[in-house]
Amino acid sequence: MVKNIKANNPSLKSWLEISRESDFPIQNLPFGIYSTKNKTKRVGVAIGDQILDLSQLLELGYLDSLSFCEHCFSNEYLNRMMGHGKLEIRDLRNRISELLNVENPELSQNIEAVNKVLDLQIESEMHLPVKIGDYTDFYSSEQHAFNVGSMFRDPDNALLPNWKHMPVAYHGRSSSIIPSGHDIIRPKGQQKLDDNENPIFGASKLLDFELEMGFITFKGKPLANTISTEEADEFIFGMCLFNDWSARDIQKWEYVPLGPFLAKNFASSMSCWIVTLDALEPFRTAGPVQKPKVLPYLEYSGNKHLDIELTVAIQTENGSKKVVANSNYKHMYWNMNQQLAHHTVNGCNVNCGDMLASGTISGPEEGSFGSMLEISWKGTKPLKMPDGSERRFIQNGDSVIFNGRAKNKDFNIGFGELISKVLPPK
Ligand code: MN
Repeated sequence: MVKNIKANNPSLKSWLEISRESDFPIQNLPFGIYSTKNKTKRVGVAIGDQILDLSQLLELGYLDSLSFCEHCFSNEYLNRMMGHGKLEIRDLRNRISELLNVENPELSQNIEAVNKVLDLQIESEMHLPVKIGDYTDFYSSEQHAFNVGSMFRDPDNALLPNWKHMPVAYHGRSSSIIPSGHDIIRPKGQQKLDDNENPIFGASKLLDFELEMGFITFKGKPLANTISTEEADEFIFGMCLFNDWSARDIQKWEYVPLGPFLAKNFASSMSCWIVTLDALEPFRTAGPVQKPKVLPYLEYSGNKHLDIELTVAIQTENGSKKVVANSNYKHMYWNMNQQLAHHTVNGCNVNCGDMLASGTISGPEEGSFGSMLEISWKGTKPLKMPDGSERRFIQNGDSVIFNGRAKNKDFNIGFGELISKVLPPK
């Protein structure tokens, strides 16, 4: 299905000045929760270096043609607004696009209104955008699964037998998902050193990032119903950057046989703007040919992958900064439609505001790997920072910075930065 979404028209221009390099041109219009010195938490839409205040816009009557109420926008989360579903959110985004269009004087000529509905991003604070009910983490990048399998098992049998038959996943912890800008406290836990019989307890020494993207769902179907790959798009609100922090030493000892637990649930970081799946439609691309052939419920038609360039940088306490990974969301073996179809095939329900994350996204060559585990190959190949220091894993005082951009010749559909700084343990 080719979607004709008005707000995606590449020729649209805004009456606001927006730099060519901005993550937030008029074709993006991502949703988030922000506050300022004078405004409590509310729904905003990023445009250039500003934020459009939807609660004010509604109060001034600019959204009267739509069915949203004040509680949808004067809210500390996006969930209530999202409750209106895909089509009404599409209408809302189209209406916002109309109001910001250079050819439309409706809002632009009302200086008093303009002053009320726009805030500078630099003068605003961003918050966790979604009240996340459930969080699921997939493991859907073949190169990542291959790298990890090669390191810990055998390069000749790197993928486990189920990997090419289903998007493997585990249930994560939603309570510890935090927004960009919040510090990560290095976790403590049990570790088992190779030459010791018994485990020790202490701060993790092998703290790592995982370069991921997450998608946020609309309300799904009731329990015992399934969502097909064909239907999946209608249940996906939008996407964010996602850092699934991992303590590799804790993970190694605890994960048998039930999988990740305390090595993961101390924190996961998400970027603050949710870029709608609608805004990303122009960046659809074909996925890999899946061999062996997948079971019928995982088959899909059309381009369901997305071309989104991803970067990871590490910045040390003294400001030394280096890009350590250039990857792309298109490297996923399993796409979101397959993940959602698999997640619900047993009748498991998804709710408005669930987070489904991709798993570490590693590209095919060195330089495109999405974790320090892979970049430093289990610590055997240390990374040189510009200040001469070395990194095998993440050190205290380091900031980890993700960026994501879908690009065409005229503009970028960006996600804004996801930055988190690692602090010593408590
Ligand atoms: Mn992960």
